[in-house]
Amino acid sequence: MRPLRTITEIPLKAKRVFVRVDFNVPLKQEGEAWVVTDTTRLVGALPTIRYIIEQGGRCILASHLGRPKGKSIKKYSLEPVAAKLSELLGKDVILTDDCIGDGPRGLSHQLRNGDVMLLENLRFRPEEEENSVEFANQLLELCDIYISDAFGALHRAHTSTFMAPKLAAVKGVGFLVQKELEALLPLRENPHRPFVLIMGGSKISDKIGVLEHFLPKVDRVIIGGAMAYAFLKARGTEIGNSLCDDRQVQLASKLIKGALVRNVELLIPVDHLVASKIDDTKSASVTPGAAIPDGKMGVDIGPNTLALYEKGLEGAETIFWNGPMGVFEVPAFAQGTFELAKKIAATTAKKLAGGGDSVAAIVQAGVESSFDFISTGGGATLEFLEGKELPGLKALE
Ligand code: AMP
Repeated sequence: MRPLRTITEIPLKAKRVFVRVDFNVPLKQEGEAWVVTDTTRLVGALPTIRYIIEQGGRCILASHLGRPKGKSIKKYSLEPVAAKLSELLGKDVILTDDCIGDGPRGLSHQLRNGDVMLLENLRFRPEEEENSVEFANQLLELCDIYISDAFGALHRAHTSTFMAPKLAAVKGVGFLVQKELEALLPLRENPHRPFVLIMGGSKISDKIGVLEHFLPKVDRVIIGGAMAYAFLKARGTEIGNSLCDDRQVQLASKLIKGALVRNVELLIPVDHLVASKIDDTKSASVTPGAAIPDGKMGVDIGPNTLALYEKGLEGAETIFWNGPMGVFEVPAFAQGTFELAKKIAATTAKKLAGGGDSVAAIVQAGVESSFDFISTGGGATLEFLEGKELPGLKALE
């Protein structure tokens, strides 16, 4: 990867600085209004925004929110985000009613040094997801400098994340992207060993690239979540009605062979919490072994598996965790995920995690501060770790 220009290398004073941020935050409705329920992504962007203000730049923020599919829908307005950001910054945040056109252009010229403006949801325009040259130029009319600080969106070749930076004359990365790259690049290239990789969640197809990338560099792989059933099935173990399809089983077989050839230890569940349905907490029970009976589905790892995985963490110098061990959104099925988060937190290894669900689990388990690095990306983190070229980074070279 070629070195990227960073925000600190670009003079910002009196310049209109466009920052692509990831303000795709969870919202909830309170009466007529929508409110932000998790400010992690807003807080993540603050260092870059504050730096622009301090330098006397004129900050123009742009983000997508949800999937409004090219239409202006009130539910997906960035209004609650502007309100929360204003609170966090302790200053006014001007919200435009569109992300391009005469209104935002006029306002961009009226900004004074240190002002902050947030453009309305980029995805209210269908062109945002079409990687359009015309739309990119309309966004660039608003600014003198393009800064990329939306790490979680760098894997998307959309207009604001790819075409706009590609066409921008002056461009660089903000502090969040810089921090992510500084943490993830050494992990990807040369993790300190012994390295233990923990993967959970629902689909191997999303994670196979990461697993394969790390096979030559990892000492132990721990598998949990619905992904684990494909490994069990590949080994000939009954998995009842657990979530799994044949393609996942093929991928799991390939990985089992790869691990064997590379002498990588692969840990899969030896018992499970099972239920009749994914939300039927009353029917939950622990299996005596790795097999899952007919009519039941796995919803979490069992106590013997947790003990096995705790042992699997011993001696690790580096641990990377992505994906929950079970259906952790249902409190009765969250124990495996939360307990594992605590066990990872208690090790002396360098601890890194990525992906929305693992982050939520770490926060809910109350062990966030024990982790050395928690990536703000989901898909972007995984694609970066598997060695794929991220369009949003390519466009900045
Ligand atoms: P992913 O997006 O691939 O990281 O998957 C996260 C999702 O996997 C979460 O919504 C979990 O509820 C789900 N998940 C984890 N374990 C299981 C399981 N045993 N059965 C069904 N879904 C699961």
